[in-house]
Amino acid sequence: MNNFQYHNPVRILFGKGQMAQLPKQIPAQAKVMLTYGGGSIFKNGVYDQVKAALSSYTVVEFGGIEANPTYETLMKGVEIARQEGIDFLLSVGGGSVLDGTKFMAAAIPFEGPDAWQIVANRAKFTKAIPIGAVLTLPATGSEMNYYAVISRQETQEKKGMGNPLVYPQFSILDPETTFSLPPRQIANGIADAFTHVMEQYMTYPVRAEMQDRMAEGVLLTLIDEGPKMLANPTDYDAAANIMWAATMALNGLLAAGVPTDWATHQIGHELTALHGIDHARTLAVVLPHLLEIKKETKREKLLQYGRRVWQLTGTDDELVAGAIQKTADFYESLGIPTKASAYAIPASTVTEVVQRFEARGMNFGERADITPQVVGEILELSLA
Ligand code: NAP
Ligand code: FE
Repeated sequence: MNNFQYHNPVRILFGKGQMAQLPKQIPAQAKVMLTYGGGSIFKNGVYDQVKAALSSYTVVEFGGIEANPTYETLMKGVEIARQEGIDFLLSVGGGSVLDGTKFMAAAIPFEGPDAWQIVANRAKFTKAIPIGAVLTLPATGSEMNYYAVISRQETQEKKGMGNPLVYPQFSILDPETTFSLPPRQIANGIADAFTHVMEQYMTYPVRAEMQDRMAEGVLLTLIDEGPKMLANPTDYDAAANIMWAATMALNGLLAAGVPTDWATHQIGHELTALHGIDHARTLAVVLPHLLEIKKETKREKLLQYGRRVWQLTGTDDELVAGAIQKTADFYESLGIPTKASAYAIPASTVTEVVQRFEARGMNFGERADITPQVVGEILELSLA
């Protein structure tokens, strides 16, 4: 097992009725900005619950944060928050609203001339406005981590940022808030969480038995409970299991002491940036092909995964092929295509993405062997 430090300060308030805890979590004198997305919170009653819980606070609302939150929109919120003297941000919605809120938390007190540098060049910042979250979509793990992924329309970029200063102070996870999710978003959430686990697990073994068993537990939970949530979005226990599994998938625990990959996410972000494809869907068109191309270096883990997660038997070669096939089949079973050819992606996108990786001047993957050329091979295979 590799060395690691682990610290996670996020208070999780999990279960039905937890919204009532909201006032205890935010300082009484705080001037709160409630951030939200395109309006789902008005339709499912979450807005009314939050407003009722915040009745004793001064609240400024900032809505319209898009899926794949953009710098352009977020900077409007930053301006308003500065003018209003906001000292607490409450994100109400999915991962996009929360990621956008994390960026705003850093950008509001940022003293440099260009807040995009926080994302583009990971500019250092030493202050952030405190954040709380009411999560309505299990998927990203953003509710218990310090990452955010921000897009810039002007330059068609999508990039990650991370800093412990933007950990939410608390996250309210009430599975009932997910009952209104359409099947497409439920499927996306399951696929995103599944891929997060794979990025941290499908590398090479370092005899980290706890981490491997936890990763396999999260995968098995998603595989077993995901179809139940899709079949019946108001099945509380299915929603609760998926919500906690998605949080566990990316709160740092699975990554502690093990090598991690993350190339699937890096490639996927480019596909969203260029073609607007849902985040989770980009992952499904990348991961099975990445596994195919990297099946020799990932062989030992593919065998373990095939046996323990999919209960496969047979020769080692059959197990490796079966494990990759089962991965693709799982995405497809959620209604998510695994071939880039399912989307109107032109062949020129491969060249464009390869050039973008060349410009970054670094390789990806747990062995830093996902070169720009390998990125091209993965996308070619997906388009075939
Ligand atoms: P999302 O983009 O936040 O939301 C997708 C859609 O679901 C929106 O249209 C939203 O509508 C709707 N929605 C949310 N909750 C709903 C509910 N309870 N009922 C009905 N509709 C609801 O989806 P997400 O998958 O959570 O977030 C994706 C983003 O997170 C991507 O940008 C991705 O790159 C990023 N990400 C971040 C991390 C991280 O660690 N921070 C990890 C992976 C991915 P409204 O807008 O109307 O609310
Ligand atoms: Fe993701």
